[in-house]
Amino acid sequence: NIPVLTIDGPSGSGKGTISRAVAARLGWHYLDSGALYRAVGVAAGWADLDLDDAGALVRCAFDTVVGFRDDAGGEPRVLVNGHDATDELRTETAGAAASAIAAIPEVRSALKERQRAFRQAPGLVADGRDMGTVIFPDAGWKVFLTASAEERAERRYKQLKDKGVSVTLDGLLREILARDARDASRAVAPLRPAEDAVRIDTTGQGIEAVVERVLALVPG
Ligand code: C5P
Repeated sequence: NIPVLTIDGPSGSGKGTISRAVAARLGWHYLDSGALYRAVGVAAGWADLDLDDAGALVRCAFDTVVGFRDDAGGEPRVLVNGHDATDELRTETAGAAASAIAAIPEVRSALKERQRAFRQAPGLVADGRDMGTVIFPDAGWKVFLTASAEERAERRYKQLKDKGVSVTLDGLLREILARDARDASRAVAPLRPAEDAVRIDTTGQGIEAVVERVLALVPG
């Protein structure tokens, strides 16, 4: 049975950075499930699909080809239908589109097997919202990361500013709170910790400290 460590939490909780670092340290594969939802949201936008047309969005979820390509030292590049969409996927517009299509149960089902296929030897670190509750309920280790909304907005602000995207801290905080509310209140797979998840509050904590705490859970 191939080992899985799930790392769930809201946007800006540090999931992505911490999951990638933990996967690198363990030498395991990494699943960025948010990127799949973002890719479908962005592809739906490219195709001019109506966000109310569930049927078309489900077909889009099945048809969108998402590829991950390692970038020496940096975050992996994400190819959507063959186009490098890494920068577009990071925008709050893509996050909001992802959150909208992620509320459709059939879209979530369409992406289920694709996510499970990432479980390959020697192991997998799976990052998302429902990794420990829905996709890998049998995972050996489950983590739920949190951080105050203010700190999460500040982290996103820094990330986007470094990328040259012009945003305001206030606007980001509002968007993050709106997305959290939608993710927590949707009928399917609402954002919540698995009962057997270890909760770690990353507010005011450095990345290295959190990475060590997560690694300490997984017996070497
Ligand atoms: O993690 P990230 O911010 O990239 O996720 C974007 C959106 O995709 C989330 O706000 C959420 O609505 C959705 N998502 C999800 N389930 C996952 C990962 C992401 O519903 N496992």
